[in-house]
Amino acid sequence: MCCQILDIDELDKKAGVLCKNCTATNGCKIYNKRPQVCRDFECEWLTERDIAAPLKPDRTGTIFMIDPDTDQYQAVTDPKRPQAWRHPLVFKHLIAKAKEGHVVVAKSGLMSWRVYPTGETAPWV
Ligand code: SF4
Repeated sequence: MCCQILDIDELDKKAGVLCKNCTATNGCKIYNKRPQVCRDFECEWLTERDIAAPLKPDRTGTIFMIDPDTDQYQAVTDPKRPQAWRHPLVFKHLIAKAKEGHVVVAKSGLMSWRVYPTGETAPWV
């Protein structure tokens, strides 16, 4: 999902477009030469053991990640499923993260929304 959902400047890849190097059967066809950004990226699903199985990115169309620049807890959705972050299971997870003290932001393409501990949401710049 990260090879599809995220925009990757190093590959001139737009958000929501599957990377041309991604194959259905063998994964990344330039694995040994993939850019550093691909080597470094790990979503929360890979690193956080407390995320429930139904929240796996390929099931929800949503990747959870900590933005390294802002420290925001981000839910980045496939632009083709811009409201995926509003799915009850995903939304419940985002509220829990907000209650932990994170600044939680749901993103889809160029649009983003802040998710507050109360469950309220608002467009976010
Ligand atoms: S280069 Fe490989 S790891 Fe990077 S986005 Fe494309 S398929 Fe994924």
